[in-house]
Amino acid sequence: MKALDISGLRKVYKGGVEALKGIDLVVNEGDFFALLGPNGAGKSTTIGIVSSLVNQTEGHVKVCGFDLATQKEAAKACIGLVPQEFNFNQFETVEQIVLNQAGYYGVPRGLAKERAKKYLAQLDLWEKRQARARELSGGMKRRLMIARALMHEPKVLILDEPTAGVDIEIRRSMWTFLKEINEQGITIILTTHYLEEAEMLCRNIAIIDKGRIVENTTMKSLLAKL
Ligand code: ADP
Ligand code: ADP
Repeated sequence: MKALDISGLRKVYKGGVEALKGIDLVVNEGDFFALLGPNGAGKSTTIGIVSSLVNQTEGHVKVCGFDLATQKEAAKACIGLVPQEFNFNQFETVEQIVLNQAGYYGVPRGLAKERAKKYLAQLDLWEKRQARARELSGGMKRRLMIARALMHEPKVLILDEPTAGVDIEIRRSMWTFLKEINEQGITIILTTHYLEEAEMLCRNIAIIDKGRIVENTTMKSLLAKL
């Protein structure tokens, strides 16, 4: 089964920037996949389209078999997105933030509370559940975004530059957590401009540059070439 099946994907932003110039990409279910590339290459645009936040100009995208053009709600339910920038209400508590997200996806309250406890504990945030988001450190906010993205138990977790600006200790613990949930069966796709991060975590990799995929291979064979 394919977690992502992208073909001929183009994106031209208003104003004329052609961010994606015809991308073909497949990510299999269960994979730990990195989309690597320099700033401005088109990584955020690609995952924005896959997460239904950005409209494509041309091409086809399927998420877990659901066509974004005709089965958008089903496709959205398969994706958990951890965006690059903090985008939660800074005055809400940690627990409110994850419960609200579950509510948004229609998860029943009792189940949402169980999941909140599970994911906040796994991400070392349970003790902080009554804290307001603005009181958290940067690393805690990142982990909160991951917990929030897992509340509807998506099949695919997408992380946009997950450890940008995070110190090494927190980064390592995030990596360990991501490996664990991947072993439990969640497909993970991350963007990074940091080869070491992809090397630590990922089995397969695509390199994107100026809106085109310039390499799509296993991490092993990429490393053998360098
Ligand atoms: P990244 O490091 O992932 O490229 P950026 O800092 O370039 O992110 O962009 C941050 C946000 O600003 C994103 O939501 C992106 O869509 C938006 N953005 C980036 N470039 C432009 C642009 N030229 N015009 C308008 N919005 C942009
Ligand atoms: P990356 O995530 O790899 O840094 P992006 O997908 O953010 O790359 O950006 C790809 C290109 O599209 C860049 O030239 C960027 O400036 C442009 N871009 C991104 N978002 C927008 C936007 N909202 N409006 C206009 N141009 C954008």
